[in-house]
Amino acid sequence: MAADPASNDTGSVELARRVSIEIRMTAAGSRIAGLFCVWGRTMAGRRDDRSAEAAEYRRWYNTARWRRRRAAQLEASPVCEFCLKRGIVNDGSRQMDGSVQTNPRRRFLVADHIVAHRGNPELFWAGALQTLCPDHHDSVKQAEEVRGYSTEVGIDGWPVDPRHPASG
Ligand SMILES: [Zn+2]
Repeated sequence: MAADPASNDTGSVELARRVSIEIRMTAAGSRIAGLFCVWGRTMAGRRDDRSAEAAEYRRWYNTARWRRRRAAQLEASPVCEFCLKRGIVNDGSRQMDGSVQTNPRRRFLVADHIVAHRGNPELFWAGALQTLCPDHHDSVKQAEEVRGYSTEVGIDGWPVDPRHPASG
């Protein structure tokens, strides 16, 4: 669904219904989302991903406690926040350019730690979360982990990450 500034209540109700369905689908896929997170970090070449501590925090994603936290995040924020900043309402059914997500295995949303927890339990369990589509989770978060801040640019042309130097 492309963003429509004039979207009416009927559209909102329809979106909420679809998002509700998506949340039920993605609740079953939470383990997959957890793996995506681990893969993203592994692809970024983090040496500590192979440590015993990394094995420990990978297990956190498989706990009921994390599934509850993730579900609460997706309920509170049921569309990709980075897509939304670009004017695209993505409930997990879209790619980051707004086109339909044709790969069913990428039709979900990620409850992403805004500050990478890197195995820190306080950050993992209490650090703020944001909802991302798989595209944004893969591409933007990897760049963020390498640089220390996101280079994502919002619809207004300014960086969306307050840690970006331009936001100084
Ligand atoms: Zn997105």
